[in-house]
Amino acid sequence: MSTKKKEKDDNKPSPMMEQYFITKAENPDCIVMYQVGDFYEMFYEDAILASKILDLALTGKGKNTEGKERPPMCGIPLVALDTYLPKLVNAGYSVAVCEQTSEVVVNSKAPVERQIVKIVTPGTITENVEETKNNYILSIAKQKEKIGIAYSDITTGELKIAETCDVEGLENILNRVCPSEIICNEEAKKIENGIMSIKIGTIPSFKYYHSFAYDFSKAEKLIKNHFGIANLSVFDISQENKISVMALGALLEFLNDTQKRTLQNINKIQKEIPKDFMYLDNNTRRNLELTENMITHKKYGSLLWLLDKTKTAMGGRKIRKFVTEPLQNLTMINNRLGAVEYFVNNQMIRNDCVEILKEIPDIERIAGKIAYGSINPKECLSLAYGLNNVYKLKSLLNNSTSIMINFCKENLLDETQISNLITTAISEQAPINIKDGGIINKGYSSELDSYQSASKLGKQWLNELVEKEKEKTGIKNLRVSYNRVFGYYLEVSNSQLGLVPESWNRRQTTVNGERFITPELKEMEEKILNSDSEALKIELQIYSEIKSFLVSKIKDIQRISESVALIDAFCSLAIVASEKNYIKPEINENVKELNIIDGRHPVVEAIMSSENRFVPNDVILDSDENRLMIITGPNMAGKSTYMRQVAVITLLAHIGSFVPAKSARISPTNRIFTRIGASDDLAFGQSTFMVEMTEMANILRNATEKSLLILDEIGRGTSTYDGLSIAWAVIEYLSKNLKAKTLFATHYHELTDLEGKVAGVKNYRILVKELADSVCFLHKIARGSANKSFGIEVASLAGLPKELIDRAKEILTIQENTNVSATKLSFDQAVAQKNSKSKDNINVSEIISVLSDLDMDTVSPLVAFSTLQNLVDKVKK
Ligand code: ATP
Repeated sequence: MSTKKKEKDDNKPSPMMEQYFITKAENPDCIVMYQVGDFYEMFYEDAILASKILDLALTGKGKNTEGKERPPMCGIPLVALDTYLPKLVNAGYSVAVCEQTSEVVVNSKAPVERQIVKIVTPGTITENVEETKNNYILSIAKQKEKIGIAYSDITTGELKIAETCDVEGLENILNRVCPSEIICNEEAKKIENGIMSIKIGTIPSFKYYHSFAYDFSKAEKLIKNHFGIANLSVFDISQENKISVMALGALLEFLNDTQKRTLQNINKIQKEIPKDFMYLDNNTRRNLELTENMITHKKYGSLLWLLDKTKTAMGGRKIRKFVTEPLQNLTMINNRLGAVEYFVNNQMIRNDCVEILKEIPDIERIAGKIAYGSINPKECLSLAYGLNNVYKLKSLLNNSTSIMINFCKENLLDETQISNLITTAISEQAPINIKDGGIINKGYSSELDSYQSASKLGKQWLNELVEKEKEKTGIKNLRVSYNRVFGYYLEVSNSQLGLVPESWNRRQTTVNGERFITPELKEMEEKILNSDSEALKIELQIYSEIKSFLVSKIKDIQRISESVALIDAFCSLAIVASEKNYIKPEINENVKELNIIDGRHPVVEAIMSSENRFVPNDVILDSDENRLMIITGPNMAGKSTYMRQVAVITLLAHIGSFVPAKSARISPTNRIFTRIGASDDLAFGQSTFMVEMTEMANILRNATEKSLLILDEIGRGTSTYDGLSIAWAVIEYLSKNLKAKTLFATHYHELTDLEGKVAGVKNYRILVKELADSVCFLHKIARGSANKSFGIEVASLAGLPKELIDRAKEILTIQENTNVSATKLSFDQAVAQKNSKSKDNINVSEIISVLSDLDMDTVSPLVAFSTLQNLVDKVKK
């Protein structure tokens, strides 16, 4: 062979690698996990990437035994897929899983057939997903001013569509749903830049998905096909919902593309009405610590942490939804409140329900596995166990008068048919992996039993046959043997050949004798030899029949799991309400005010040490006389806690939860806005003050009379007078233009002058007791205004050096003495006095004219200094 030809052959990839290159070329955006025997291997750049993320050894450098260059590669055992796959997907990658689909033929040169069995993406992962959290894939279609949304959790089968007509509405839905992956059409991709949640990283960026998928007719056809319907009106979808049909069509196509199978657990479309949900922007979700603590980003210390006493994974997901999706629909709210009330009033029933709930596994996700075809025998048994308990749960709820509980009860279907089938068919000892059998119970199939006993009793039967034939024929040294070519045979030595009956068939002659077979022996041989594989085949057949039966029951299982989830969530809210002494809020269209008596902050109260007692407080806010509360009081007095508590109680009522108060009348609220604290957003080019003002602008643009506003220290990020002026103007604007219910905490005591001057403004202060050298916080709100912030006392409590504190006190005294007139005068008066002074001594317009003539970009330092000097001289004169 010429050297050139040899080199060419050396570089030629093996047939397996050729096949790999085609697969990789078809899936360039995915990490390809390629099954090679008992491993999934990754090659080249995929291997380099995956080895880093998964902390795997990278092999394959250098040359192989034939001298060929080996590609960098790394691999994981097949059985470890569920462990490693989520790590790659959580790191933001999509993974194409390519498996062997034909048997390995020994000595064959052709590679085994392989096929991509699924593409796993962040929004479609089913392996090791968080138990009490949904994982959503969301699709957006935009056409002109319309935006259509479709989203699904393929593990639970939930599928919803919604529509909006602006970016703000879209962002609201995105914040509420919190999808792990977003696909979109070309027009939608263009509005991505306007979505703040993407900039700050709480929502993933949009992935453009091919426009053909968003074609209306194609989408409509695909949807009809998927659901087996002739008309979309079955799901209340009309011509007007064209845009969400487009989004949904693309979503289904994406799922088909990635999952490579029809997901039968996605069997209904729920149409969302955005107005049913309260609008909560990202800041508010964060500030009210709905699902995670603002500082630790952990569940502990959040509202969800407090409310989640659920016992099932389904209930866990449901209560999370309750918390993240407060409602505006008053009927739905009151139905939920009724269900919670039922469990508050019926503690015994609740306790019994809880005990049963503990015994119900995640049947919703088991239904997902049924749809996916991946349910294992252990999960079947667990489903059966769960369904038996569901039946017990139903029997507990007989005397309920709650609409919601009765709805749940009706949907807790009796599925003993499923559980009976599973428990009779599937063995308690069944392994998770079905490939070796051992799944089906003895007695379930006589055919299977005969094969299994044939395997077991085969040898015994053969021995009995030999004894029988010995007796019949008189061949004393007759024995039964086996070889691969002839299978089982009877061996007769030469001396006894004369005794062999005619019916035996001679198969082989050896030195010492001859070998025979009989029809009886062959029949049994077949049974013996094939018994294991036949038994396995029958087991798999039975198992597959059970799986098909379960597929036909998916909808029923989903109905049951939805009800279990709701009952669990209502029990959870009732447990918290009973343990923490919450009451049922009054919330309906006749309630126009927020009137909370002895309200408490539920999380602060729950975390407080036992020696401290949370001080309850009232609130009265309406759209009239008590529209805007200006809250003053020292640092650390409890202003923020008080304001958040009002927001959280309002939110709890809209979830359908009882609230921590003595009584609560809650007016229906469309949005809660919070402007609390300030943090730099330097990465996105915004200073602290800019962030504050941007948030404020957003609130003023979107708040309505039905909104609740929590504004903490507006105007603090700039100079005192600028800040004070902005805060002042904000209050006037709110009162005049928006009439939203507002809590406004401030250290600008001058703002308290607005009571009586601006309609709806009322002053409140948080009380403290002044001690000789310190303050005692009473945390009690009262009418009136505070005149001191006690900042130095709080600084001292915080542990600033004594020397520094003494000096601060000295400076404060000097300041107060020199500005005595200012502190005694109201803000109005102070400004007026300042203006009049100015008029006496300075020609203001002249100063403005000099300053406005200055071009700061070009002026030299010398000219700037002398101009300033001149002005200062004039002012001093
Ligand atoms: P600052 O003006 O410095 O921001 P603040 O007035 O907003 O302070 P908060 O942060 O609300 O004060 O409260 C300070 C602490 O006081 C809280 O961490 C909480 O532990 C406690 N506190 C607040 N309200 C109450 C209450 N009603 N009962 C008991 N303790 C409370």
